[in-house]
Amino acid sequence: MHIEKDIVVSLHYRLSDEQQEIENSFDDGVPMVYLHGHNNLIPGLESELTGKQAGDKLSVTVAPEDGYGAYDEALKQNVPSEAFAGLDPQPGMQFTADTENGPQQINVLEVTEEFVTVDGNHPFAGKTLSFEVEVTELRDATPTELEHGHIHAGGGCCGSNDDEAKQDDSCCGTSH
Ligand code: ZN
Repeated sequence: MHIEKDIVVSLHYRLSDEQQEIENSFDDGVPMVYLHGHNNLIPGLESELTGKQAGDKLSVTVAPEDGYGAYDEALKQNVPSEAFAGLDPQPGMQFTADTENGPQQINVLEVTEEFVTVDGNHPFAGKTLSFEVEVTELRDATPTELEHGHIHAGGGCCGSNDDEAKQDDSCCGTSH
């Protein structure tokens, strides 16, 4: 079996940007599991995994345009402090804002009397990312997983292996 569309892939990875290690799944022993070919990974990583088998190791460098996109200065804005009334914003905090493009995570950069400076870019936007990957396991997806476009076991949309009915009814919502 090799990695192709509709295969469920388990892998370990070490993620670094130009400066430092950001995430490492080897240390905690819990692999990432995803459904290949359904936009669950950034394109630059997913394309390199196609065709690989369990046990394969690879190093992948992903440019911003194949990862989380270029950094967009326009997404960095000064918002009047009144908009954050009652939220006590502090630098480093994250909020989910409703925008015309749907829910978007924003990061608080700076707080003054009048303004809160927020950044709607993904934290990895504009960064060249390096992945050290080891493919650990492959399996076929279930029909329900294919229908939903994501996995249903081992940390997918629910993070639970033991209750398929509950996963389908409550975890993934009723609309899909
Ligand atoms: Zn689902």
